[in-house]
Amino acid sequence: MDVSYRIEQKRKINGPFPGPKSEELAARRAKAVAAGVASSLPVYAADVDGGIIVDVDGNQLIDLGSGIAVTTVGASNAAVAKAVAEQAQRFTHTCFMVAPYESYVALAEKLASITPGNFEKRAVFFNSGSEAVENAIKVARIATGRQAVVAFDHAYHGRTNLTMGLTAKAAPYKRGFGPLAPEIYRMPMSYPFREENPNISGKEAAERAILAMEKQIGGDQIAAIIIEPIQGEGGFIVPATGFLPRIAEWAKENGIVFVADEVQAGFARSGAWFASDIEQIEPDIITVAKGIAGGMPLSGIVGRAELLDSVHGGGLGGTYGGNPVAVAAALETIKFMEEQDLPARAREIEEKFFARFTALQSAFPAIGEVRGRGAMIALEFVKAGGKEPDADLTKAIAAECLAQGVVILTCGTYGNVIRLLPPLVIGDELLNDAFDVLESAIRKLAA
Ligand SMILES: *Cc1c(COP(=O)(O)O)cnc(C)c1O
Repeated sequence: MDVSYRIEQKRKINGPFPGPKSEELAARRAKAVAAGVASSLPVYAADVDGGIIVDVDGNQLIDLGSGIAVTTVGASNAAVAKAVAEQAQRFTHTCFMVAPYESYVALAEKLASITPGNFEKRAVFFNSGSEAVENAIKVARIATGRQAVVAFDHAYHGRTNLTMGLTAKAAPYKRGFGPLAPEIYRMPMSYPFREENPNISGKEAAERAILAMEKQIGGDQIAAIIIEPIQGEGGFIVPATGFLPRIAEWAKENGIVFVADEVQAGFARSGAWFASDIEQIEPDIITVAKGIAGGMPLSGIVGRAELLDSVHGGGLGGTYGGNPVAVAAALETIKFMEEQDLPARAREIEEKFFARFTALQSAFPAIGEVRGRGAMIALEFVKAGGKEPDADLTKAIAAECLAQGVVILTCGTYGNVIRLLPPLVIGDELLNDAFDVLESAIRKLAA
């Protein structure tokens, strides 16, 4: 990797934390911003580069969250910033449904070439991951003439009405926000760490879900099966090998559209271009967002031409979908990922993480599992001697890291997973410093 930085890549906490300027902003926010939107950090961002977030008081935090897996190439990547500025000077918007432009077509071509599956593909662009998921389901329903949609335990697919229904966790995502969309069925996931039978194979876990789909819905009633190849918000759950291929195979046998929600795992994050590549599955439709455009809001679906082309003209779209500034950022982001071989960088980060934290696990039984792929890696915390989730310890470790200047996000159905999503442009020195801080927090609090 060959990247240069504007901001010195050093962790630094000046004086009280949060500092006075952040405290002032928090007071203004309380009187102006809806309480329903929560922030992980008590400080306000002023400048972000590489692996560093500088706050308004001049503190420098190490970023192990990438704004939830978005700023994979950095939050102020020079090439992306230049492409954004150039496009903004020519036109910020025409609406692709009114006056189309070449870059949208070029991005669709590019996605067809980098996504798994050597078949004719089509793509269409939107703004958020939720919107991509909604549209994948719209396409699957038109293409199959069926209505039922299958999602899995621990799934996260978004916060709009349909995607809230697809998301598994009630609080905070769906409790009280009903009525939720009908015709959604939830199936058991492969979650190796929490299987009752620890020897169950991926294929057996798939057969368990298939039997439930056959008995509770009927294969000929299902329009789509949607699954994250590595689950994100639900706990960075990597299904057992063989689970995804068997579900995909059964979907094909039953004329069901297999949708891989790669919104979080896609674009180099997992150590492959797409997490679907790891087990060589070829989803009928892939949803993309988050890492695709260097921080600009862009999402899309890409999939089999005959599925996407089954929708009548005007059936898909949206005012801002495939906004030209966001598309320019995406083209530059993908180019940067290719030039710098960021999937390889993600695999390096995976190696460093496992080397260090599997060693630590043997000394700290509170670390129930060390898992993940690429730079989508996690520690699941449990009460000593068993598998009972320890959300309090997880929260305390994340808070201790933050106090030391390292931004760490948590996740999981039980709130007991620390997840690391560093920008892939983070340097080794900074990454090691962040790992040191995390390790000391575990040594201090998990003893
Ligand atoms: C974040 C996420 C979404 C929703 O994306 P938004 O842009 O927040 O709407 C959907 N699916 C997965 C797997 C995600 O991680």
